[in-house]
Formats: sequence, C-alpha cells, structure tokens
Amino acid sequence: MSVVDLRSDTVTLPTDDMRQAMAKAEVGDDVSGEDPTVNKLEEMAASLMGKEAALFVTSGTQGNLLGVLANCQSGDEIIVGANSHIFWNESAGVSALGGIQMHLVPNQIQGSLSPADVEQAIRPTGNPHFPPTKLICLENTQNRSNGGVLTVDETASIWNLGHEYGIPIHIDGARIFNAAVYLETPVEELVKGADTVTFCLSKGLSAPVGSLLCGTADFIDNARRWRKMVGGGMRQAGVIAAAGIVALESMITRLAEDHSNARRLSEGLAQIHGIQHDPGVVQTNIIFADIAPELGSMTEFVERLGRENVKVHYVYGRIRMVTHRHIGSEEIDLVLSATARVIEDMRSNRIG
Ligand SMILES: *Cc1c(COP(=O)(O)O)cnc(C)c1O
Repeated sequence: MSVVDLRSDTVTLPTDDMRQAMAKAEVGDDVSGEDPTVNKLEEMAASLMGKEAALFVTSGTQGNLLGVLANCQSGDEIIVGANSHIFWNESAGVSALGGIQMHLVPNQIQGSLSPADVEQAIRPTGNPHFPPTKLICLENTQNRSNGGVLTVDETASIWNLGHEYGIPIHIDGARIFNAAVYLETPVEELVKGADTVTFCLSKGLSAPVGSLLCGTADFIDNARRWRKMVGGGMRQAGVIAAAGIVALESMITRLAEDHSNARRLSEGLAQIHGIQHDPGVVQTNIIFADIAPELGSMTEFVERLGRENVKVHYVYGRIRMVTHRHIGSEEIDLVLSATARVIEDMRSNRIG
C-alpha cells in the first residue's frame, strides 16, 4: 500500500521533464562563472524577482545565511520574526558563522510583522550598549504561522520603515510563489521593496536541489565570495540548475492545486471531533492542527497515523500537514478517513 506523505513539500520528486533536462544540460565550471545552465537559471531568477542579479545556492538555508552574512558584520543585530525559519530551523548559522545576534519580534497569526513592533526593535544609533540593527527579515509565506501570506501592503509597511531608517530588508521567500499564486499577484510586486530575497526550487516547485538568492549586482558579487567560503561553490552545477529552469517554467501555476487540496483537507479536518483546527487561517499549502488533549498525545496520533500509511510532521508542538504535487484529491480522502479512524481508536482506548 502506498504511503501518503504530508510531512513537507520538500518530499516532491523531480518530474520526467526535469530528469530529461538534467541529462541534456550543457555544463561548465560554475565557480569560474562558466556553466551556461546555471547562468541561465540565475538570469531567469533575477528577472522574475525584478532584481539585478541572482546566485544559485545549495539550499534555502544557505541563501538566507549568505543574505545575512553579506549584509552584516560580526556584532551586528538583525530583526527576525519569532516564528521565522531563520531563528527556528537554520542551526543558528547567522550567530555561529556570522557572530550576528537575532532580535525577535512577534509574528501575527498569518505571519506578518507589525511595523510598531519592528520600529521598537530597531536599536538607537550612537549608544555603545547596543548592537547596530543591520537587517530586517520577513518570511513569505510564513511557514510556522500557518503558511500565511504577507500581502504587498503588509510587506510595504516594513520596507518603508526599513528605508526610513536606512536598514535593508531581506525576504525569506522559500515559498514566495505560493504567496504570489494565492494573491494572484506577480512575484515581483511582493519583493519590490526588498533589497534581497531567497526562494526555493526544491519545495512545491519539485526540483531536486537548490535555491536562489537575488539582489543588486554588487550584493550578489559579495554573496558569491561568502558562498565559496561556506563551501557552496559547486562545479558542473548546471545538472541540477537544469531542473530548476523547468521548475520556474512549468511548476509555478500548479501550486494553486496544492492550495485547493489543502483547503479540502483543512475543512475535512475541522469536521473531525477531536481535531482542533481552524480552517479560517489556511491560505496556502500548510496546515497545523492539534489533537484534543483528553484523547492522548500528539506523538501517539502521529505514530498511529503512520501505521495507516499517512505520514505527518509533529513540529513546534503541533501536527503539520503540507500538500504538494503527489497529493491529489484521492489522497486527501485517504488522509481524512485515516485521521477519523485514528481519532476514534484513541477515543475508545481512553474510554475503554
Ligand atoms: C524550507 C525553508 C527554508 C530553506 O530550507 P532548506 O531546506 O535549507 O532549503 C527557508 N525558509 C523557509 C520558510 C522554509 O520553509
């Protein structure tokens, strides 16, 4: 029996078109700037984001790390959301490798940052007690905040503030195309006031490996040196960049399917007595839910669901389910019936 894997959209496998493009890719030594396929991908990325240049990096984590390192020095401070991937999921790379302190401000329920909170977190200059604030980071979509979407206005309120104080803005746009598809807005509009942006090819876009960091040509030159330093200089990287080109050409608009499947899953889950979930907060492909505490533990739920061939993540103290290319409406039905069965089992175990 096949497994329905909702742990993440990173589990998506490359398409046949991607494998063919990889097999045929024209390649060269990218560390010397001589891989035509990488160069093409970087140009496509820069143009999609409306930035001067882009850099192909190994992962979203590396893109964010270089984005921060190339904007800051040791002893500086950056402002990030308390729910941010940079804070929670990147092994404190900016602190360990960059000597940079993270200043947390709360994320709103759908992931945005309040301009008042950010302004309060900006350090006054000229006071030797304070590390200087050198970067403000946003995340769109905001993974841990229900996969929430930051609108152009919500983003603009922060980049206006940044410009007022002379502080650049970085967007962790691992799933920025999910936001663009949800808002039916060109992705360029969502990042136009940001100085730098990272996005992932290997999430819902289904490419096997890789992310892009985008910004000014000078910034990207600087980031390229940092990439080499952290061991991210790849040689015939066109083999994987080729899949990324296919992803950008053909995998963006289909993200709407992931969103409508997530919507069906979300509404179905909300009907199951014993699952605590508010479908009102679901916008894209990420769903968080809790199990009514009297039924037992979340880890027990995850384990039992696994025995029903449904894999979900237990993260941040909640159950997370992510829809993606390998989850269609048949899989949603399977997940809902398996969930209802597991919950009923857990309930009768407690009563019995
Ligand atoms: C996945 C993700 C990243 C990058 O993750 P990698 O696994 O390093 O590619 C960055 N930010 C967010 C919000 C993510 O979900």
